[in-house]
Amino acid sequence: MSAVLPPSDDTAGQPLPAAIGGLDPYALDPAGLEALVAELGEPRYRADQLRGWLVRGVDDPQEMTDLPTRLRDRLAARFAPTRPELVAHTVADDGHTHKLLLRFPDGEAIETVLMLYPDRATVCISTQAGCAMGCPFCATGQAGFRRQLTAGEVVRQVVVADAALRSGVIGEQDLPDGAPTRVTNVVFMGMGEPLANLPATLATVRWLHDPDGFNLSARAITVSTVGLVPGITRLAELGLPVTLAVSLHAATDALRDDLVPVNRQHPLAEVEEAMASYRRTTNRRVSIEWCLIGDVNDDEEQADRLGAFARRLRAHVNVIPMNPTPGVRWKEPTPARVRSFVDRLERRGATVTLRDTRGRDADAACGQLLASYTLGAGSRLPASVGAADRIDATGRVALPGAGS
Ligand code: SAH
Ligand code: SF4
Repeated sequence: MSAVLPPSDDTAGQPLPAAIGGLDPYALDPAGLEALVAELGEPRYRADQLRGWLVRGVDDPQEMTDLPTRLRDRLAARFAPTRPELVAHTVADDGHTHKLLLRFPDGEAIETVLMLYPDRATVCISTQAGCAMGCPFCATGQAGFRRQLTAGEVVRQVVVADAALRSGVIGEQDLPDGAPTRVTNVVFMGMGEPLANLPATLATVRWLHDPDGFNLSARAITVSTVGLVPGITRLAELGLPVTLAVSLHAATDALRDDLVPVNRQHPLAEVEEAMASYRRTTNRRVSIEWCLIGDVNDDEEQADRLGAFARRLRAHVNVIPMNPTPGVRWKEPTPARVRSFVDRLERRGATVTLRDTRGRDADAACGQLLASYTLGAGSRLPASVGAADRIDATGRVALPGAGS
C-alpha cells in the first residue's frame, strides 16, 4: 500500500526518489514536502499552503482549494493517505481523558491518548505497534513487537487529536466545555520505544516544531525513552531542545536488568553519561520517569540511589505509581509507601512530581486498551509475561544469580 519511505532524518532536503507511489503526505517532513513541491515544478510557497491543509487534517488534495487544479491533480496522483480507523474509545476523568485505539489499513492497532487540562491539551502518541523492549510491568512490552510506525502514522495521531480539539468532538463524544482548541503538548509515551524508531520520531518532532506545522515549542515536546544511548545522541544532534525523559525505574544495574532489560546493553553509568551530555548540548533539564512498583523498587536503597542520580544530573523525577496490568502480579505500592519514597527522594535533594494516574478507568496504562480490545475480540494475551514471572512468592524480584 503505502510506499516504504527513506528515513526522513537522513534525507531532509535531499531530492526525492524518482518514483514514489502511494505516498502518505504526513510521512514527509516539512523539508520533504518542499522537495516534493519543487519536483513538481511549483514555487516554494505552495509547500506552505500544503502544510497548512495537512495540519488542519485535510489530506485530500482535491479539497485544498487554494492550490491550482493542476497541482491538486498531480498531488492526488502521488498521495495515498494512510487513514486510521477509530476502533475503540474509552473516556475517563469526567471527559478529560480520551484513549483512542486507532487501526491502520494493514490491521495494526495503536493507542493515542488525549488529556485535557484547563490550560493545555496533551497528546500521548505511539511510535511502534508493540515494543521489543520487554519491560515486564508494561502491557505493550508483554505483547511484543509488531512493526515500526511510519512517520506519517505517528504524525497522524497528533492530527487526529488536533482535529478533535478544533471541532469539539472526539469519536462520538463532545469534548467538555472550555477544553483547549489546539494541541499544546505532545509526549512520546504511548506504545513503543521512540528512539528505536528514530526516522519517524525525528520527522514527527520536525512537524511538531515547524512554525507552519504544529508550531509547538521544543519544551512542549517530550520524548520518553528506555535509555537507548545512541538514540539520545541523535536526538541531541537534532538541535531542538525537546524534553528528554528517561524511564529509569531502577537505580542499581541488578534491579534494572530485570525491570528494563535493555539495561544489559546500556547500563546505568552509560545512560547517566548520555543524559548529562544531552543536558550539556541542549541546555535542557532532563527528566527521570520512575514507575513505582510495590515491594520491587519502592525501598529506601532505591530512593537514596535515585536521589543521588537525579541530583548529579539536576534532573526532575516523575514518580508514577504502577498502573496494574492484567497478567502482571506486581502491585502498585500502598499510599504510605508512595509518600515515604517521595519524601525520602526530596530529602536527598531531588525535585519530584508525583504523577496522577490519568485515565485509570480508561485502561490508560500503555498497551492496556489494545489488550482489552484484543481480549474482547476473542484473542488471548501472550501467556509469557517476561520477567514478571521471575518474582518470587514474596513479590520481590528474583535477581539473576539469586538462586530462585
Ligand atoms: N518506551 C518508552 C515510551 C513509552 S512507555 C519508555 O519506556 O519510556 C511510557 C511510560 O509509561 C514509561 O515511563 C513506562 O515505564 C511507563 N509505563 C509502562 N507501563 C506502565 C504501568 N503499568 N504503570 C505505570 N507506568 C507504566
Ligand atoms: Fe516498551 Fe516503554 Fe513498555 Fe518498556 S515501558 S516495553 S520501552 S513501551
